[in-house]
Amino acid sequence: MSQEIELLSPARSVKNMRYAFHYGANAVYGGLPRYSLRVRNNELNSKKLVQCIREAHEMKKKFYVVANIISHNNKVKTFIDDISPIVEMNPDAIIVSDPGMILLIQKKFPKINIHLSVQANTTNFLSVKFWKDIGIKRIILARELTTKEIYEIHKNNPKVELEVFIHGSLCIAYSGRCLISSYLKRKDSNQGVCDHSCRKAFSIKKNRRTLKRRDFSEEEVSSDIGRFQTDSKVLSIIEDQHGSYIMNSKDLCAIESIRDLIEAGVSSFKIEGRSKSTFYCARTTQIYRRAIDDVISGKKNINKSLIRMLNNLSNRGYTSGFFRKDRSCEFHQNYERSHSLSASQKFVGEFTGKYKEGFAEVLVKNKFCVGNNLELMNSKKNIQFFIKKIFDERWNSIFCAKNNEIVYISLPEIENPFDLKFSILLLNLENGNKTAI
Ligand code: SF4
Repeated sequence: MSQEIELLSPARSVKNMRYAFHYGANAVYGGLPRYSLRVRNNELNSKKLVQCIREAHEMKKKFYVVANIISHNNKVKTFIDDISPIVEMNPDAIIVSDPGMILLIQKKFPKINIHLSVQANTTNFLSVKFWKDIGIKRIILARELTTKEIYEIHKNNPKVELEVFIHGSLCIAYSGRCLISSYLKRKDSNQGVCDHSCRKAFSIKKNRRTLKRRDFSEEEVSSDIGRFQTDSKVLSIIEDQHGSYIMNSKDLCAIESIRDLIEAGVSSFKIEGRSKSTFYCARTTQIYRRAIDDVISGKKNINKSLIRMLNNLSNRGYTSGFFRKDRSCEFHQNYERSHSLSASQKFVGEFTGKYKEGFAEVLVKNKFCVGNNLELMNSKKNIQFFIKKIFDERWNSIFCAKNNEIVYISLPEIENPFDLKFSILLLNLENGNKTAI
């Protein structure tokens, strides 16, 4: 395979963008909170976006500006004024879903590339042709397509760039077509303030009384949590001690579909996660960089250690999504919990790149102690080691490092030492779990 394949990572902040590039992203995407679908946990403002675009270009990387809300009149009116200083920096594209905003951009900035957001739910080759004919350069396809459908879209539109989400949270609805959060919390997901209502534990009430498992006869209780049972008029659902997470999708993890998707014509793989941590951004980028490079270099199978590393990240359970059709409901949904869990690794620190007396400086993010089994994560190499010594800032030898402290730690001998800036420290919760690559 010799195509140019892009790895596209999320940037909620300047810092996350830097980590994404360090760990191998070709491009990142980030947006102004007012016009993109991540209002919370998005540290980017106009000034920071300008800085991001400048830094990305200095590193010969790409930056895409997201403006993919389903816009109401008030936002259409202010959009051009707000986006102008950012467009002046020449971002590599603007990601949009609203046809009105597309028209506005094309009129005001005819030279800028436009990528059609996943929110536009493009699911067939005729839609792709329609968007191509009005000047869209790239289509971010709906998540609900099979690889076979993507292949057909590409065959009919070989010159249009196709992008897909390869990893991250999934909605229970077609992206952008969900109103659950609007109805329940008056937080419109299409304006970027979704409160993840679908992930809540729902309970069943009758005459204002919450029904429990004991309220149902044995016959009614299905062994499968969350199975719907119809009783002439009402649709009922059984709740057990975990609750009833009836609309809670597992997270997408389609690492094993990369080869098929490249062969189907996909040229950009996007990682979801503009509200996720720096560590999540760095780790997913590191893993997918390696996976894409392996596929391009002709390796037949995905390295199992990469899949283990993904499992070590906190997740709601993984599904490979819709790329392969033969999947049941249980395969996509997590009926038992909606929060993300990681049982095997924890992010505990960031290396600053500085040294003192041969000990590496670390900004502590979670507690770790002498004797712990740790992983030093770096774009060059991941190294497992047991920590022997920790010093605090006053050079006292300490047993445990605590949140937000600056500490100095002993490192194992490294054959070809590398710059530790952007390196991350992980605590292995299961000692036997070796994930070095
Ligand atoms: S409530 Fe759930 S399905 Fe709806 S937009 Fe939010 S995350 Fe997606």
